[in-house]
Amino acid sequence: MAMSEISATDQESSEKITIRNVSKAYESTQALEDVSFSVSEGEFCCVVGPSGCGKTTLLRTIAGLDDPDSGSVLVGGDPVTDPGLDRGMVFQEYALFPWRTVRGNVRFGLDRPACECADCEARVRELIDLVGLDGFEDAYPKELSGGMKQRVGIARALAVDPEILLMDEPFGSVDARTRDRLHAELLDIWAQTGQTIVFVTHDIDEAVTLADRVVVMDADPGTVQSTISIGLERPRERTAHDFVDHAAKIRAELGSPADASRYHDFS
Ligand code: ADP
Repeated sequence: MAMSEISATDQESSEKITIRNVSKAYESTQALEDVSFSVSEGEFCCVVGPSGCGKTTLLRTIAGLDDPDSGSVLVGGDPVTDPGLDRGMVFQEYALFPWRTVRGNVRFGLDRPACECADCEARVRELIDLVGLDGFEDAYPKELSGGMKQRVGIARALAVDPEILLMDEPFGSVDARTRDRLHAELLDIWAQTGQTIVFVTHDIDEAVTLADRVVVMDADPGTVQSTISIGLERPRERTAHDFVDHAAKIRAELGSPADASRYHDFS
């Protein structure tokens, strides 16, 4: 086999998610137009872009919640047609059941939510510990802070040990200090589980803090502008030169420096 063939095969086999020429329109809005990129196995990929550039639509398409009008999404080489247990989703607005406790919400992520066998109980316990909510098992969502609610959302998405975690601006509603803590916790979980993560955000610093690679999108129609590798060691310091350089590069891709400030969430 020629060297070029070996490289092509290796590259394909490491691709966990392949997005091929995906287009999707809602009535007169072209949410995605000819979007193509891939995410490697175990990669932490962030998708950034202005509001309305199709980030959520893209994530829902990978999740199998929306069908593309044309093009395809492959997971592990197989076309996505429906939602599956191999993909866990964490939503921006928590999407917890208010009438269920932390334990009940996490349990709901299991493929057998009604099962109270020792294995399922142990799994729920393990997940609650993993996201640092031990002691809050019997609390209801209304008793929890935003950060704690999002920890429940993450535990629930992890319940079936999905190979892929799809996260839609999960920390958009929490304060800056809590967000920093959640970043560190998410990176710990990712290091432990080795999952492939696609994380949508409009916060450039958040993307540079977390990602191996950042996909920069443009709006109207939603397209991929560029992809930028973030080859920095973790944990990353926001004031470090390399960090600031990467953030500036993404900001420049999104528009002029003056324009780019509107993409940045300073909260
Ligand atoms: P983002 O997540 O980047 O803000 P979205 O994927 O939510 O972008 O939306 C992309 C575009 O598609 C926007 O213009 C949005 O208004 C439109 N859109 C998204 N979902 C729907 C829908 N269900 N019906 C009509 N238009 C939609």
